[in-house]
Amino acid sequence: MLLHNLRRSPASGSVSFLVGNGFFCRKSQRVVNRCSFRISNSSLPSIEQLSDARVIYSVAPSMGHNQESHPESHFRVPSIVNALEEMKLTPKFRGSEIIELQHFEPASVDDIASVHARAYVFGLEKVMDQAMEEGLILIEGSGPTYATSTTFQESIVAAGAGLALVDSVVAASKIKRDPPTGFALIRPPGHHAVPQGPMGFCVFGNVAIAARYAQRVHALKRVFIIDFDVHHGNGTNDAFYDDPDIFFLSFHQDGSYPGTGKFDEVGTGDGEGTTLNLPLPGGSGDTAIRTVFDEVVVPCAQRFKPDIILVSAGYDGHVLDPLANLQFTTGTYYMLASSIKQLAKDLCGGRCVFFLEGGYNLKSLSYSVADSFRALIGDQSLASEFDNPNILYEEPTAKIKQAIQRIKHIHSL
Ligand SMILES: [Zn+2]
Repeated sequence: MLLHNLRRSPASGSVSFLVGNGFFCRKSQRVVNRCSFRISNSSLPSIEQLSDARVIYSVAPSMGHNQESHPESHFRVPSIVNALEEMKLTPKFRGSEIIELQHFEPASVDDIASVHARAYVFGLEKVMDQAMEEGLILIEGSGPTYATSTTFQESIVAAGAGLALVDSVVAASKIKRDPPTGFALIRPPGHHAVPQGPMGFCVFGNVAIAARYAQRVHALKRVFIIDFDVHHGNGTNDAFYDDPDIFFLSFHQDGSYPGTGKFDEVGTGDGEGTTLNLPLPGGSGDTAIRTVFDEVVVPCAQRFKPDIILVSAGYDGHVLDPLANLQFTTGTYYMLASSIKQLAKDLCGGRCVFFLEGGYNLKSLSYSVADSFRALIGDQSLASEFDNPNILYEEPTAKIKQAIQRIKHIHSL
């Protein structure tokens, strides 16, 4: 792993920093040592709380992991949390319907190493001292991925925030048939991070780590991952490419970063057929996604028979997002959240956890996550208050149909 010094920042050379939900760490090594003993279920909500809730979420904003003017900024999670507050979608306003998981442990090195090479995990930890001295560092060969002195610690907190939701949702599913859906409001995102290293703004593969954790800790053998970020989740794809027990399904904009995720990338060896990549033409929007969900996602999941569904929830397919050219609306995200929750209820005891991935227009990101929360709670969508149909243009219907027919043929759907 080669590092470039981008700029010196005396302010970021500070020894102490706030990590996640109140973890105060001085030395990364201390975190690693403590985290090696991560204990499942250490701070779950009570049975009563879990049985009343419809959504359970965790927050790991990684405030120290930030580069000025970078789209994957530390404003992202706070903007979502503020929107949830403003729209009265927090425990303060909704009582027992919504739980914020307040206390969770960072992921352990073993958790991270279930997906990533140990050399990468320890290598990243090691360069934190350099980042502390030099300010921001760029991790070469990783797509434009940066690191600051807090990146390692905040990334294990973010991954841990997802694992704690898996614990909570699984515990709730043992006491009721319709457990709350988990939503990890975390960053840095994860789905581009490959087993050997970081990539494309992503440090650790949060959803992939959670998939392995669900298998190992909760004996949930079959994991179905839906990735609706506008970009291909190449890291998750690679982590499970030969694994028949983890189905990775991604639909994304054809030709967008990182250029992988072609129709014929279907898995290999025992895992052949348990990876589905559907590149969609630029301009695809709400109508395309409704068809994709009904004709591709649902039959795939039904055939696979998962024990849990995990979601790489990227909001950069929104028509207002600056990094891509799809035409998802707030209403599209409501539909996706609502449909995925129903799918989990039908197929795997309602066990489902969403993980925040991309989404770089703070307004469309936060409104869309808020409407996803409404879907998961069972409230009406308020998308019409945000979406402006006048900015949408006609979807490339013929190309979309062709893409859907092609993927259905390849996967015998
Ligand atoms: Zn993305």
